[in-house]
Amino acid sequence: MTKNGILDSDKVESTVIGAGPVGCVLALVLARRGHQVTLYERRPDIRHEDPAGGRSINLVLTERGLRILGRLGLRDEILSLTVPVLGRMMHSLESKLAYQPYGKDDSECNYSVSRTRLNASLLDAAEAAGVAIHFNQICIDADFESGQVELKDAVSGEHTRRAAGVIFGADGSPSAIRHALVAQGHAEATVDKLNFGYKELYFPAPSSSTDTAAMADHALHIWPRGDHFLMGLANLDGSFTGTAYLPLDGKNSFAELDTPASVRAFFEGQYPDSVRLLSDDFVDAFLANPTGTLGTVRCAPYHLDARALLVGDAAHGIVPFFGQGLNCGFEDCLVLDDLFEQFAHNNAPPEDRLAAIFAQFSALRKPNADAIAEMALDNFVEMRAKVGDPNFLLQKKVEHRIENEMPDIYRSRYAVVMYSALPYRRAFEIGELQQAILRELCEGIEDAAQADMRQARDLIEAKLLPYYERFGIALDF
Ligand SMILES: Cc1cc2nc3c(=O)[nH]c(=O)nc-3n(C[C@H](O)[C@H](O)[C@H](O)COP(=O)(O)OP(=O)(O)OC[C@H]3O[C@@H](n4cnc5c(N)ncnc54)[C@H](O)[C@@H]3O)c2cc1C
Repeated sequence: MTKNGILDSDKVESTVIGAGPVGCVLALVLARRGHQVTLYERRPDIRHEDPAGGRSINLVLTERGLRILGRLGLRDEILSLTVPVLGRMMHSLESKLAYQPYGKDDSECNYSVSRTRLNASLLDAAEAAGVAIHFNQICIDADFESGQVELKDAVSGEHTRRAAGVIFGADGSPSAIRHALVAQGHAEATVDKLNFGYKELYFPAPSSSTDTAAMADHALHIWPRGDHFLMGLANLDGSFTGTAYLPLDGKNSFAELDTPASVRAFFEGQYPDSVRLLSDDFVDAFLANPTGTLGTVRCAPYHLDARALLVGDAAHGIVPFFGQGLNCGFEDCLVLDDLFEQFAHNNAPPEDRLAAIFAQFSALRKPNADAIAEMALDNFVEMRAKVGDPNFLLQKKVEHRIENEMPDIYRSRYAVVMYSALPYRRAFEIGELQQAILRELCEGIEDAAQADMRQARDLIEAKLLPYYERFGIALDF
């Protein structure tokens, strides 16, 4: 075997750190390409020992993330674990319900899935593909010169160094592999924390017809209140996983809500209908459940020649307000697989070929990850503005009219991100052009019905169509 895990037979010895959803999918991609893959995971095996006691955050999968699962033959199996989400149900301060469908029809939907169930299924698939998985192994450091990782056994505390070959960091936002790359001068990274966190809550399956109507399972439920909000996503058994998003400190914050009385009063005042729908012990759960923090990880490059590569949150953790973090990580795996295919018949020595694949990966993914990071932060601002800014609401309504009347030349940025395979960077730039169009159309009007649709078409033809043409974009998704 030569250095860096490239075996004589042109096969590669690969080590993936982190058996989360992206680490498992990456391991499957590599195994399919003939790599000998070892996966190290810091936690116990969630299939036997679930630290969350059966409860788990719910994630929204979209078409972008499902594509690699299709290629790996897992799409149907994973979809069977999901609940289709066709729109969002807004719960007002007065407990009024307003439903907004997401897509042009029900074929454009998102899929709610428990992270734990998804992860468990992907672990099964990775094992079945011959990946060696070691649990309770915390990666402490990596030596990219010798191609070794340092591990600590979470149970015995024992430290070991293992030959790793090519090292892949799929170890999430706090990535040890990213830290090692930065510490050894191979990459630069920043982590921008948001002064906003989240807590899991639980909505049992509704038991009355009124509650079933209020908690329709085909909707993402949201209680938007500007500076904070509550969300609910359906589980397969009819229950919902709720997430309360609040500032970490200040008014209406996790720091402020620290007694049973203050929590109950907050929910009764801010999300009144949720009090009937949440589990009876929601106040205790709110006080007992950990507060998750949120932030944006920016890193460059994602690779070190043919020796190491970062994927998923380890490379580009983003805030969850576009529901795209995992989808972006799965798309990383698709792009990497495309590059393996593209270079499959290249005659360069295997090490040079792998280095070229990794360099291309960094070059292709970095602008797109930066774009979705920015759009996710935009959405955070949007969600807070949504309830209070009449101009913003007017623009949204005008946009809805345009999208309905001219779907062949106008799809909202949301639809491009969620339902198309267009790169995130393209979605971002389309969104910038749309903003300029909507601002101009909304000048001097007070109601969406007053918007001039002829002017809208002229503006789209002048601003958006040249962009589509330049990048060969067809809105045929
Ligand atoms: C509240 C919330 C809601 C979200 N909603 C959505 C959504 O709707 N849609 C969406 O697409 N994304 C969503 N996301 C983002 C999504 O959860 C992440 O993007 C996704 O989990 C990233 O997957 P990953 O495998 O890269 O990292 P992770 O899921 O973080 O997995 C990393 C794995 O590596 C392991 N690990 C970490 N460090 C080490 C170490 N040193 N040694 C060994 N193992 C290690 C961890 O235990 C873990 O198993 C949400 C995130 C949050 C917080």
